[in-house]
Amino acid sequence: MANQSADMTLLALLERTSRLIQGSLHAKNLAPAQWLALQYLARANRFSRTPTAVGLYLEATKGTVSQTLIALVRKGLVRKECDRTDRRSVSLQLTGRGKTALSRDPLSDLSAAAAALPRQTQDSLNRGLADLLKVMLARTGGHSFGQCSTCRYFQRNREPDDQRRPHQCGLLKVALSDDDGSKICVEHQYAA
Ligand code: SF4
Repeated sequence: MANQSADMTLLALLERTSRLIQGSLHAKNLAPAQWLALQYLARANRFSRTPTAVGLYLEATKGTVSQTLIALVRKGLVRKECDRTDRRSVSLQLTGRGKTALSRDPLSDLSAAAAALPRQTQDSLNRGLADLLKVMLARTGGHSFGQCSTCRYFQRNREPDDQRRPHQCGLLKVALSDDDGSKICVEHQYAA
């Protein structure tokens, strides 16, 4: 019974926080899906800036994602580039205007509120929410969009003294830069 009640409290807190986030996304001059796509593109690594990956992240249909991206390109916030290795594939990049728009990110209040919490509380929240997400994804089969350090395909440089030797991605067979490792990836899968 105690667990049940704790779960209900957690559920209510998550739902309330989620509603505040949804509400703040309506507050500025872009549609919520457009803000979320901009935020995603700012956080996604170079392998993950495709229309398909945006759709998977937003859990949106192909049509909705297409309309969202058309609007962002029309507003000059995002540009499409052909992938250098696969000309049929499109890579999405934030423009200077897109980056400026994100400096007015409607979630900045939430970010500031989280940053003001004591370090220990932030760490506990991070761990708890990451665990919750992991369990949810195991149940629903969604994409994790995590970082390299927690990915089953991450191959750490085993020569810590040799900083010139980069980490590797065992799936994509490429060397990973610090920038790749600090961003989220559509191909990420949790290590067992
Ligand atoms: S190691 Fe995992 S998260 Fe990193 S680039 Fe490869 S697939 Fe993506």
